Amino acid sequence: MKQPDSRYQELAVPGVRALHPYLPGKPIEALEREYGVEHAIKLASNENPLGPAPAAIAAAQQELAGLARYPEGSGYRLTAALARKHAVEPAAITLGNGSNDVLDMVARVFLGPGREAVFSAHAFAVYPIVVQAVGASARIAAAQTDNHGHDLAAMAALIGPDTRVVFIANPNNPTGTWLAEPALRRFVAGLPDHVIVVIDEAYFEYVEQADYPDTSRWLAEFPNLVVTRTFSKAYGLAGLRAGYAVSAPGIADLLNRVRHPFNVNSVAQAAAVAALDDSTHLEAAIRLNREGLQQLEAGFEKTGLSWIASVGNFIAVDTGQDAAGVYERLLQQGVIVRPVANYGLPQHLRVTVGLPEENERFLSAIERALV
Ligand SMILES: *Cc1c(COP(=O)(O)O)cnc(C)c1O
Repeated sequence: MKQPDSRYQELAVPGVRALHPYLPGKPIEALEREYGVEHAIKLASNENPLGPAPAAIAAAQQELAGLARYPEGSGYRLTAALARKHAVEPAAITLGNGSNDVLDMVARVFLGPGREAVFSAHAFAVYPIVVQAVGASARIAAAQTDNHGHDLAAMAALIGPDTRVVFIANPNNPTGTWLAEPALRRFVAGLPDHVIVVIDEAYFEYVEQADYPDTSRWLAEFPNLVVTRTFSKAYGLAGLRAGYAVSAPGIADLLNRVRHPFNVNSVAQAAAVAALDDSTHLEAAIRLNREGLQQLEAGFEKTGLSWIASVGNFIAVDTGQDAAGVYERLLQQGVIVRPVANYGLPQHLRVTVGLPEENERFLSAIERALV
């Protein structure tokens, strides 16, 4: 094989040269191939164990015959459905190839060399990537010491004249920690006019805490707010890649200028529209998740492990040791979870809530893996 030519490394823009690519969870097939195990389970990517709503699958299938055509470029039906859902005009919606795509658009519109983005330690790994890729600087706030969650005061202290974007994950991945309405509202209200705040609500549907805010309702009040949501998590459509932002139309107009044409494919558009209509399936996913979190917590308690209290569809457990070995011994038993050392949590493993029997299998496997 040809060696990669290091000269090309130097040709890359500085931000990209220093970039570490996003690390996805290990696919089931890769584990089975590499370890020679069968019936592996994956609790590593916060996917919905129930899968998508049957109506979403049917809508996707129906769309297949039309694959020779480009998708509807504006995503007319999906945009209209989302505008109805959020009681905003369609011009307030920006569709993304997953919500990661929208995060990238925000960076390309508002960041660049000489500009800064603020986010928290242990925050979602895509923030540093999109910031660095456009040559902007990341200012990373220390997290809360008790639960590794966002410390809004520490974040506010990092905002300066060159700050253009603040990223907040509510709840955050991989910690599962969340911010309550009063504190978050105060933070947003206190931001200077030259700062856009992105509130990433990828796990919105799962959160049942009474004080958890739907910040898409704050748009009339805060014109610098961008709220992102996704069909990848509670809606169970991660493989199709559909997400979106809700914002003031002026911001959506800017985001749409850099949006790649046809970024959300026709199958994803159709499935997402159908998924929005099926509240029964969504409620089943939420219930399963609530029970699964309780099951995992009870198992950790029994094993003497501590964890970060989570409101997402995943939970970070403290293995009490370097988690790399535990991760490896879980793989040997056919159980894939996510190491989070790259998030600054080297002793934790993030496990996605699965079906009851998957949670059980993970709990017995981790007991054996702890040695
Ligand atoms: C999973 C996730 C996303 C969304 O991913 P997409 O599949 O691109 O929509 C966004 N933010 C956080 C914090 C996530 O965990």
